[in-house]
Amino acid sequence: MKEIRFTIFLFISMIVLLLGYMYVKIQHTEAALNGNLEHLYLDHAKRIAKNIDTYLHRSIAGDVYATLRKDAKLRRRLESALEIAAAEPYKYVYILYRDANGQYRYLLDGSHEDKGFFDQKLDVDIARWDRIYTSGKDGTISHKDSRFLAITYLHPLRFGGKVQAILAIDFTSSLPQTIAQTLTPLRNTLLVIFGIFVLLSILLAYQLYLFLITRRRAVTDPLTHVYNRTFMKQFIESVDPNKYAIMMVDIDHFKKINDNYGHKAGDFILKKASDTLKAVLRNHDVIIRYGGEEFLIFLRSPGSDEATLAIAERIRQTFENTNFIYEGHSIKVTVSIGVTLHPYRYHSIKEAIKNADEQLYSAKRAGRNRIAYRDDAIKKEGSDVINIVKEALENDKIFCHYQPIYDIATKTPKKYEALVRLEADGKILFPGSFLEQIAYTTLYTQMTKRVLEVVFRAIAQHKKPISVNLNFSDITDNVIFANILEAIEANKALASYLTIELLENEPIEDIAAMQTRLQRFKELGIAIAIDDFGSGYSNFEMFRHLPIDILKVDGTIIKSLPESKISLSMAKSILLFAKENGITTVAEFVENREVFDILVDLGFEYAQGYYLSRPLAELE
Ligand code: GH3
Ligand code: MG
Ligand code: MG
Repeated sequence: MKEIRFTIFLFISMIVLLLGYMYVKIQHTEAALNGNLEHLYLDHAKRIAKNIDTYLHRSIAGDVYATLRKDAKLRRRLESALEIAAAEPYKYVYILYRDANGQYRYLLDGSHEDKGFFDQKLDVDIARWDRIYTSGKDGTISHKDSRFLAITYLHPLRFGGKVQAILAIDFTSSLPQTIAQTLTPLRNTLLVIFGIFVLLSILLAYQLYLFLITRRRAVTDPLTHVYNRTFMKQFIESVDPNKYAIMMVDIDHFKKINDNYGHKAGDFILKKASDTLKAVLRNHDVIIRYGGEEFLIFLRSPGSDEATLAIAERIRQTFENTNFIYEGHSIKVTVSIGVTLHPYRYHSIKEAIKNADEQLYSAKRAGRNRIAYRDDAIKKEGSDVINIVKEALENDKIFCHYQPIYDIATKTPKKYEALVRLEADGKILFPGSFLEQIAYTTLYTQMTKRVLEVVFRAIAQHKKPISVNLNFSDITDNVIFANILEAIEANKALASYLTIELLENEPIEDIAAMQTRLQRFKELGIAIAIDDFGSGYSNFEMFRHLPIDILKVDGTIIKSLPESKISLSMAKSILLFAKENGITTVAEFVENREVFDILVDLGFEYAQGYYLSRPLAELE
């Protein structure tokens, strides 16, 4: 939810930026167009000036003023030449000279209207004109107006090596106004859209802010500002039990504070207690108000049991050595702490929390103001295996071997069963030596997840059908289920290569949940096999409820086929049942030729076992 809003916010902000950029770009374009226009006109004016200059020199030499003064005919001729130049947008074309008093007066005027006559004074920007006179270089005077381009181009006229007059060409163009008018609707539209989007992004930012505040509030305890139980529920769903130790901290005889100093004093102490915890703990430790005056703490990667207990001791001592001052009263409190050192050794986080709670109460019983811990969730001999598995998971030493499953008719391998292996101290361990010890711990789930990753990778690489063993609780585990769906979502082809072999080592607790999940797998194209059929909890009843495609007959039945008549008739009836229901049959533990021949006679479809092939370390 937050992510979507955030994305929309980002998106709209980008649009705002884009619109802003476009607006600035339009302004630039307009300025560039006007600049080009000016250049164009000016260039042209220069050429006109040059022509006029040349033309004048053909008729006049020496003193310009004196020559023109006495020759009215020449003046008229020259003026008519100037008149030709004075065509749109060059409105006024005239020549002025500077008299003895520094005033500027007309020599010639080619303008079509407001024509000046010879020697008539004209008010000009004397300083600018003087500069042209003295420097002898061209210059421009632009009359600033955003709508019009209005420029006077001045060109000094030299006769006999001396500037004697200045030719002025005035030009005005309304094109800038036309450009502005053309661009205005675009600009206005942009401005309106810009405004709308700015408003939208402000609105969205505000919403996002409200959302975050509300969410924060929803998971925060209003009194102590640590997390509340709502947060705890979310947190324990996703927490990695390997990374934390758990502590339950409870204030001793808290009731007495309420009784002696009042409820407000109690609240005050609760606030101070949470401040104390925050001060002792680090930022990535998680503090939750679990109950009235009970705090649940997830201690992040303490490193060792000693480190965890040292932190617990620091908490205990800090409380012991602190006087909380409330309205002049100095109040002392102590805390009792229950610790779970290794949450991953429990079946679930909830049980690890429960253990911390039990430890807390044993600390209370032992006299309060103390720490209690116990970690006997697993038998001592199991703990070595636990550490081996934990290490293998951390160091990526979990992998699979693949036992080929043969098509009996053609005696060729058609599929493979992934069998988990673990490497410790350079030795390869088989599941028999570790799976049982980690059953019912969170390590088991992690192991399953890893195996699935390995198998998905193998399928993607080799494009061969592979079956993977999962037990009933793996299927009902939300994380594992989600992982499988995600992997298939990412690579749809995986499903058609995957078979899930259901292990039969526990009764199904929730058959309806099991049904829906298996059904979902089937819809995706995953095949479902029932493993070790004929032993344990498996029975024909299951076929009525679960969408099973493949039946793997238990090894004890297969192995005993040559000598046991009972096994033979069991195998026959299972086969009959399978054939009638369109279920594929696989025989496991085929260890010799004799058994294999019986399977051929009976009409089994697939077989696996050492007689056919040992598990392979690599798929070709
Ligand atoms: P123990 O040493 O066994 O923990 O004794 P205790 O008195 O601390 O524990 P008990 O559970 O008997 O009492 C806890 C009290 O805390 C009872 C309850 O009224 C009080 N309490 C719970 N929540 C709050 C709160 O938010 N504010 C205040 N002031 N008191 C609270
Ligand atoms: Mg208490
Ligand atoms: Mg209590």
